[in-house]
Amino acid sequence: MAMSLSLLFRRCCPKNRQALHRLFSTASTSESSDDADIVISGGGMVGASMACALAYSDSFADKRIVLLEAAPDRGDFHLPKRYSNRTCALSPSTAGLLSSFGAWEEIEMMRSQPVRRMQVWDSCSDSMIAFSQEDMTEPLAWIVENDVILGAIMRRLRQAPNPVDIRFETSAKSFVIPHVSESWEEKSKHPWVKVELGGEKSIYTRLLVGADGSKSAVRAAAKLHTVKWNYEQTAVVATLRLAEAIDNNVAWQRFLPTGPIALLPLSEEFSSLVWTTTPEDAKHLLKLPEESFVDAVNDAYWHERDKNALADKAVDGFSQLLNNIMPGGTAMKQLPPTVTGVEEKSRAAFPLELMHASHYVRPRVALIGDAAHRLHPLAGQGVNLGFGDVECLTRILEQAVAGGSDLGSLNHLLTYETKRQRHNLPVVATIDGLQRLYSTDFTPLVVARSLGLTAVNSLTMFKNLIIQRATA
Ligand SMILES: Cc1cc2nc3c(=O)[nH]c(=O)nc-3n(C[C@H](O)[C@H](O)[C@H](O)COP(=O)(O)OP(=O)(O)OC[C@H]3O[C@@H](n4cnc5c(N)ncnc54)[C@H](O)[C@@H]3O)c2cc1C
Repeated sequence: MAMSLSLLFRRCCPKNRQALHRLFSTASTSESSDDADIVISGGGMVGASMACALAYSDSFADKRIVLLEAAPDRGDFHLPKRYSNRTCALSPSTAGLLSSFGAWEEIEMMRSQPVRRMQVWDSCSDSMIAFSQEDMTEPLAWIVENDVILGAIMRRLRQAPNPVDIRFETSAKSFVIPHVSESWEEKSKHPWVKVELGGEKSIYTRLLVGADGSKSAVRAAAKLHTVKWNYEQTAVVATLRLAEAIDNNVAWQRFLPTGPIALLPLSEEFSSLVWTTTPEDAKHLLKLPEESFVDAVNDAYWHERDKNALADKAVDGFSQLLNNIMPGGTAMKQLPPTVTGVEEKSRAAFPLELMHASHYVRPRVALIGDAAHRLHPLAGQGVNLGFGDVECLTRILEQAVAGGSDLGSLNHLLTYETKRQRHNLPVVATIDGLQRLYSTDFTPLVVARSLGLTAVNSLTMFKNLIIQRATA
């Protein structure tokens, strides 16, 4: 039945296909259960892009794919005049994935801002590092609003050649997972995962993909354990107005002992703020009158209160030495733009934690995105890792289809887990290490990190390697 419906869907134009989906979903409500090849739980940026990647792959033309999203359908996305306060720095490889199903081109038609230089410096010393690809055509990253990313993906998903049964305002009440759920043998002799939607409704699926964010119900049902800790830090975000229109393509990040403050370019006149600080300070920043908030942002970028004289002296001497060995090798510090306003109601706060699932898969279950890993935003890697999961899982499932294997078989799911953990774990560990290294004003550590940063800043080849790694 699933096969014939898919073929019927494929013969229709996208608009009629959506109508058929609705009809099919409604028809299925009278049945107690329904079958799918893949159910994706969670239609955020990562889950929706997984659905899109499958919907544009020839390998899945005759497969039945269901996307469950708890939130209501927002319909076709219309770009608002005001910038959203939620943004992500997207890497070139993410742009490649989104382009593979046309979502990157949609983003470019709406709005995105390239980052051509990134300057990171320490408030405790004069040490800094700058990355740029000025000689190359490709930017280091693009700053894009989360709503624009999701709007672009959903637009492409609705036009996809392979039909996806998108069910908004729908979340699984529970899952019966073979060999995991205690009640599996009593409740179901079925070898697939049972997704219970409440009432009499359920879906049996060969593969359940958990893309339901950091509090993933799929992860909990599959009993996939996590390593996690709370950073006791909160990220304050806001949209900021700059003093004057500039060629705004630099990402500025200053490490303060309370956490990093980042200013990310949105347009000639606006930048996006991600300011990590203590939960108490975050509460205070949210309550400040607009003018005082703007003063606090400028002060955080310019003040010299944290300066450590010993670290400064060490950096000074070391920089001179490096300049003698490699004249002109060290990138010079530039000054960040001055902020003059904060967009009304654009301030918001997000508590930060590290979370990594020890395993991403079980038989018939795979986790992607924040359901598998959540990290500190200081390096802007979270959703990029999620998009990397999508790319990898799609390729592996395509190989499974080509080889005639069962989509939920642990054999190829383990290949996905190994590949992604090899890539994701070093990123998670490095970002956590950086967060710890910079969360102290203990003099020996300040001196050591300042000398390290100064040395790396003078090694162009090493910096290029870091760029390659961060943008992959
Ligand atoms: C301040 C801040 C700045 C950041 N900056 C960057 C950056 O610059 N670059 C970067 O790469 N990353 C960044 N990130 C990380 C990035 O925002 C996340 O990695 C990303 O949002 C995760 O997307 P996701 O789709 O995996 O999860 P989510 O965005 O959490 O989406 C999960 C979806 O699942 C749905 N859902 C949940 N439960 C169910 C259920 N039971 N059934 C059905 N649906 C369900 C939810 O409604 C939601 O739509 C930042 C994060 C923060 C907090």
